[in-house]
Amino acid sequence: MSKIYDLHCHSTASDGDLSPTELVQRAHDKQVDVLALTDHDVTDGLAEAANMAATLGMGFVPGIEISVSWQKQTIHIIGLHIDIESEELQTGLAKLREFRNWRAEEIGRRLEKKGIGGAYEGAMRLTRGAIISRTHFAQFLVANGYAKDMRELFKRYLIKNKPGYVPGEWASLEEAVTWITNSGGQAVIAHPARYKVTATRLRRLIRNFKDVGGVGFEVVSGTHSNDEIKYMGRLANQFELLSSCGSDFHSPNNVYLELGRLSALPEACTPVWSDACWHGLGDIV
Ligand code: AMP
Ligand code: MN
Ligand code: MN
Ligand code: MN
Repeated sequence: MSKIYDLHCHSTASDGDLSPTELVQRAHDKQVDVLALTDHDVTDGLAEAANMAATLGMGFVPGIEISVSWQKQTIHIIGLHIDIESEELQTGLAKLREFRNWRAEEIGRRLEKKGIGGAYEGAMRLTRGAIISRTHFAQFLVANGYAKDMRELFKRYLIKNKPGYVPGEWASLEEAVTWITNSGGQAVIAHPARYKVTATRLRRLIRNFKDVGGVGFEVVSGTHSNDEIKYMGRLANQFELLSSCGSDFHSPNNVYLELGRLSALPEACTPVWSDACWHGLGDIV
């Protein structure tokens, strides 16, 4: 039997609902063999998750999901096998979190102007000391009746041209890929089918990404359809990128996205775990 890899998920260190310990336990319950925790712009959950994985005898990969601004668009870059001791990486991430804090205040101010008071404080309370994300605003606003669910809430308030939207000023593509690569990790374009881009622009993103040292493409994502998986698989092969798979699990409350419940990589794809840095963590092809 081939192993189950889930290389993209979130804990309470960023915008997930489970603590790192609970998350790893759930992955274990769902038969995941190798898990990467990839919180947004923060590595605080990794030590706890690694401990729990060791206790359960599960494969664990320290990861990250870095927010990037590329040609005026927000893109997410996953880092796998990062070294959390890397000063360059940690300095970079700290800068992103500073922007997150400022942006959260700004979102609060903008919503206030539209008559929605207390959103910043409400969202802050939901972070329980972790990074602040639009997810926390959405949770607070849904709880206060501003939309029936998260999806609707984002659509009404938190995306481009909506009252609580503040444009991202994240890392450059080169910075994110360099921080990851210099720390010994593999940089992977997260959920490529989620970006609203033309085929030409997606190819440009891939070329830019490869030019600065990116090696991987998240062909299988919990948020991709079967057709998208096939298409992304072809792109990965055409551009000679390694293929990754991850659920992007955030919460047990989202019944559509579960840990470890992922389609296999398309046949011709070379998995990210074929690289030498994965030795000792399951099938090596
Ligand atoms: P941020 O990095 O703070 O801008 O927040 C982005 C996060 O919001 C993503 O990682 C998702 O977890 C969440 N998100 C974005 N769009 C949606 C949506 N339409 N519905 C639910 N969650 C979303
Ligand atoms: Mn998220
Ligand atoms: Mn993402
Ligand atoms: Mn994610």
